[in-house]
Amino acid sequence: MSKQLATQYTNEFLNLAKQIANEQPERAARYVEICRKIATAFNIRLSKRKREFCKQCNAYLTPKCATYRLLKIRGRTCLFVKCAKCRTIKKIILK
Ligand SMILES: [Zn+2]
Repeated sequence: MSKQLATQYTNEFLNLAKQIANEQPERAARYVEICRKIATAFNIRLSKRKREFCKQCNAYLTPKCATYRLLKIRGRTCLFVKCAKCRTIKKIILK
């Protein structure tokens, strides 16, 4: 498997997880896990798509299973995402 194909696979697994995240969260978490394993094996950066899942429990984050808070810290807008399953807080700097 080439790196290019692996990148394509990681994107497809995340898209699949997105589609079923609300109905089958367990299965979505499994897809995220597979995606991350491929990314690790092929040294692929998920970059902005890293925001879509919880790094602790691999849950795909949707407004249903996570809480979102917007805060301004030192003039920067930050988005805090709290995973409902393992309560890990993720900080995303927006601007
Ligand atoms: Zn989590």
